Amino acid sequence: MKLLMDLHTHTVASGHAYSTLKENLEQARERGLQVMGISDHACVPPATAIPYYLRNFKVFTPYMLGIRVLKGVEANIVDYQGNIDVEEQDLARLDYVIASLHQQNLVPGSRNQNTQALCGAIRHPAVNIIGHPNDGVYPVDFTEVVPLAKQYRVALELNNATLRANAGRERPKALAIEMLELCKQHQASIIVGSDSHIYYDVGEFSEAEKLLREVHFPEALVINYQIERLPRIRITL
Ligand SMILES: [Zn+2]
Ligand SMILES: [Zn+2]
Repeated sequence: MKLLMDLHTHTVASGHAYSTLKENLEQARERGLQVMGISDHACVPPATAIPYYLRNFKVFTPYMLGIRVLKGVEANIVDYQGNIDVEEQDLARLDYVIASLHQQNLVPGSRNQNTQALCGAIRHPAVNIIGHPNDGVYPVDFTEVVPLAKQYRVALELNNATLRANAGRERPKALAIEMLELCKQHQASIIVGSDSHIYYDVGEFSEAEKLLREVHFPEALVINYQIERLPRIRITL
């Protein structure tokens, strides 16, 4: 089966990514994606998807270059309670929200603190996806995170970029396997994201697909296979 959407993509608006929305869309089309979400980093420096950037999403049409485009953001989790750095009024304008832990915005805490940060974000009513929970920088207790994500219908991301050999880390793969095994056990859904920062990585899922095969992960639990299964998102495609 084919992965039909990529909801974790960055454009030049992130400040440290290199491609435009159009370049990303062209790549999405070439890869045969049906849905692409843009999720530039929220406003805490060094990222630059400032509130005004999010507010101007009104210029978007639902389809561009034949691809259904979703308006998203990668919000930063800013404390161990799981609060995020996008204002309520701006969240309301978005189709979806990825919440992620980044070292620029929150110093890695104890395993329990990191776990509570993710659990708080999962309980946040605007959050749809937890970005790269397996990156290894923030150790978390997946036995707590996975059932809660299932309960709140928030998708945990299998992030292709963290699984690459050139990411220079073995740990993200081990953590991803731990997460996937628990997702199987609890029937919790995951979403594959490229986390692209340059156009040619849009829809690039090869490492994630390899791992899904390796652990015999059930296709029914992978949101990207059916575009109707967007996590908690109530929009018409
Ligand atoms: Zn980034
Ligand atoms: Zn991120």
